[in-house]
Formats: sequence, C-alpha cells, structure tokens
Amino acid sequence: MAYHVYFCVLFFATAVHLVQTVPRIVNLSYKQNRDSMTWPGNPSYNFTQLYRGLENNHFAMPEHMGTHIDAPAHTVQGMWKTDQIPIENLYGAGVIINVKSKAATDPDYRVTVDDLLMWEKKYGEMPRRAVAIMNSGWSSKYPNITLVFGSPKPSNESSFHFPSWHEDAVTWLINKRQINAVGVDTPSTDYGMSSTFPCHTILGKNRVVGMENVANLDNVPESGSTIYIPVLNIADGSGGPARVFATYDDEPSKTNAAAMVTCFAIYLYLLAAVLMCNVL
Ligand SMILES: [Zn+2]
Repeated sequence: MAYHVYFCVLFFATAVHLVQTVPRIVNLSYKQNRDSMTWPGNPSYNFTQLYRGLENNHFAMPEHMGTHIDAPAHTVQGMWKTDQIPIENLYGAGVIINVKSKAATDPDYRVTVDDLLMWEKKYGEMPRRAVAIMNSGWSSKYPNITLVFGSPKPSNESSFHFPSWHEDAVTWLINKRQINAVGVDTPSTDYGMSSTFPCHTILGKNRVVGMENVANLDNVPESGSTIYIPVLNIADGSGGPARVFATYDDEPSKTNAAAMVTCFAIYLYLLAAVLMCNVL
C-alpha cells in the first residue's frame, strides 16, 4: 500500500506544480551612471563619494536622464508636477507595442493607430488605465550616443533619427483607452525628426505620464504584465528618474499539465478499484 500512497502524492505534486503559474519580475530601467543618456544641453551625471566605511555619496543629475518620466508639467504649465502625480497613475497593465522590424528599416518610424489595432487583434481590447510602451529594439544601441540619437552629431537636435509615437496613436490611446502612461525605448515620446513635439503636448494636456529610455522590453510579454513606474517623488519636479519594473505570471505548459492531471485521475480510479477489490 505504501508505494500506492507514494505515487499518489508524487503525481499530485507534479500536477499542481505544472498547473501553477510562476511569478516573474523584470527590471525595465538602465543604471544611472556617467553613461546615462540625456538631451543635448543638459548637465552630465555627477556622483561624488562622501564617506567610506559608513558609506555615503552625493549625486546630481537632470530629471530627464536615463530611464525617467516626463510629468505632465514638463510641457504644459499648471498640470501635475512629479510629486502631484497620483500614485494610481504610476502603474497599469503592460501593453508592449513591438515595432522592431519596422524601426529596423525606418529609423523615423512612428507607432500608428493600426499598430495598436493589430495588438488588440492579437491580445484583445486593452485594459483601461494601462501603460503602453513602444519596443523599437533601440535598447541594443543604449548608451551609444550617436546610435541612440541616430546622428553623427548628437549635439545637433535637427539631425536626430529615432522612432517614437505618432500623435494620432497617442490621441487614440487617451480617448479610446484612457491610458495612464505612454513610453518609449528611445530618448523621446516624439520621434527624432520632430521639432514641434506634439506627443509631449498631448500627453501633458491630458495628464498622461511619459516614459523615456525604457529598457529590457524583450524580457516582458507583449500582454499580461503589470508595469510599475516608481519615480523619485521630487517636489515641484518636471519628471525624474524611475526604476521601472514589470511583473507577470509565466504560463504553465497547459498540455503537459492537462496530461498529468488526466494520468492522476486514472491512477486514483485504479487505486480505488484495487482497494474496493481488497475490501470485497
Ligand atoms: Zn523627458
């Protein structure tokens, strides 16, 4: 009898293990250091050791450097400063818009409404108050300044070539899906060639958080994650560095799990039959 019980427990444990989901967590931010990317004209990252033993340092940096957010007040006066953004606006369902193949052949690519509709065709209607981020594959270039800005003269704004959002797509996300935050894996929520920055203005006017230089988007599913945007709570800030991260549950192998549960059921049935025979 003992081995019956042993196999019974083993089968049950295996089945439960296969059916369970595995929680995952993914870092979506770059380290802040002297290589951190920022818009031309901004001061550079400054890190000074104060003490060793009982360690303490001093650092100073522009708000808009490396992985960071744009508060609505960044572009539209009177809108939320960094510390005024409600905490419930700093997370949401992850919507990753993969335009890597398009951006690979067109560095001036802008995410369209069609790209958003294609995502919905694949994964269903976007949840409200989501966090939508463009994955253009640009993270492979970070922090090489000429590659990221797509220009041999990264001090000259008019020479930039990198992908981002089209204003029609941002407007659609706001009006049709009440989006919480819109991000990019490039330096700006407007594409490199822009001189008027319409997406920045639309995001600011509608109190939507912008996110720039988001990292590691290949490591998070295009649908099914939750993205958190823990920005430094800077009083009177126009943005700020954020250690953005995503959580999601790994899908188990449904086929294997189903097969194991079926085997387990058959085993229980046979065990019951044997026991019944012994009793009778
Ligand atoms: Zn910014």
